Amino acid sequence: MTNPKSYIFPQRTIDDIHAKADLGRYRIRGFSTSQNVTHFDDLTFLSTGLTRFPLEGYKERCNTKTIIGSRYASTPLSLDTPIYISGMSYGALSANAKTALGRAAAMTGTASCTGDGGMLQSERDASEKLIYQVLPSRYGLNPKHMVQAQAIEIVVGQGAKPGTGGMLMGVKVLDEIAEMRDLPQGIDQRSPARHPDWLGPDDLAMKIEQLREATDWRIPIHVKLGACRVDDDVKLAAKAGADAVVVDSMVAGTGASAEVLLDHSGIPTVPAIVMAREALRDIGLYGTVSLIASGGIRSGADVAKALALGADAVAIGIASLVALNCNREIEGSDFVNEIGVPAGECSHCHTGKCPVGITTQDPKLTKRLDPKSGAERVANFLNAMTMELSLLTRSLGKGNVHSLEPEDLAALTLEASAMARVPLVGTNKVFGEL
Ligand code: SF4
Repeated sequence: MTNPKSYIFPQRTIDDIHAKADLGRYRIRGFSTSQNVTHFDDLTFLSTGLTRFPLEGYKERCNTKTIIGSRYASTPLSLDTPIYISGMSYGALSANAKTALGRAAAMTGTASCTGDGGMLQSERDASEKLIYQVLPSRYGLNPKHMVQAQAIEIVVGQGAKPGTGGMLMGVKVLDEIAEMRDLPQGIDQRSPARHPDWLGPDDLAMKIEQLREATDWRIPIHVKLGACRVDDDVKLAAKAGADAVVVDSMVAGTGASAEVLLDHSGIPTVPAIVMAREALRDIGLYGTVSLIASGGIRSGADVAKALALGADAVAIGIASLVALNCNREIEGSDFVNEIGVPAGECSHCHTGKCPVGITTQDPKLTKRLDPKSGAERVANFLNAMTMELSLLTRSLGKGNVHSLEPEDLAALTLEASAMARVPLVGTNKVFGEL
């Protein structure tokens, strides 16, 4: 007998209940949310016509240079493009993947970021600009590594799992990774949700001060927030002394998270940027504290829209892994037999069986990712995104990507108008405004 059609219990929900009944616990997976939320595709640019002149690509350059964290740091982070590689741990990712990302960042004049579990030396060696994360777990935290970094990112929350800590399944807690984290091998790691030595924004201010002292006021201190209560959180982080605030939205990726958090917590990237921009403006720090957006950035168009909404830079995670061949059949891989789904439907980073060698520690699988050619692929992708960003910017008659502004955008849906606070196409109306 076939199932009766039900909107409340579609096949997907029935499968979910069956899985939980079999497992006796919540489901865990990698990748990103499966919710269909308002995103950058719901916005469009109003390029030039008679009201403005476009720039000529062959003779008028578009500046993509990006400076992050000049509020207090004597050496802010200087990038050739406003796109950098987000924090993803050695552990969640293979050493080859981390090294490839660091090398790709160096090839394109941008930065990569350590993630939970400490610094991988080969990523440090490959990258010119490395952001060093300080997480609640303190796994692998080493002040000698921290002082080599070009920026520090204090992680308060992550978009894929706000209000909880990192998660690394036991299948990946092996050898060097277990040693770096001071953990027994093969045991699931569930990192703490809160920093052990501070409770609130006053303590955060002291922590930022400590890190500044430890690094001689040289490098910027970022604070990364899972985008939830953006208005208050951004104000508190900025008032605590952050040089930059990272808002990581509900569509951000992960190597492993409880599915209930991936799909049912946080807010999308578009409103997160707008709320963060307004929060900084409210306290007079917009333009002083850098604003970085992450979560679902896939193309130069997404970057351009994020910048137009008010971000200074974006961080990419999943997109960089896709450039490394995530969800693609390559020589030697067999998605259906190895992971149980075809390439294109994989979200199985938590299993440690990544068929393309990215999110695995299995030596047989990690060999499938060559760090050199992987770096070239990611560098190509970063360059392509930057070219798309420049092209869009010039089509708007502007010669600097940081001149993009909300006025360049219109919304294709009522929801996007309300969330992005730009007019709905064909109207002068910003929906949701009082
Ligand atoms: S191909 Fe690898 S990195 Fe991509 S979703 Fe599957 S397991 Fe994760």
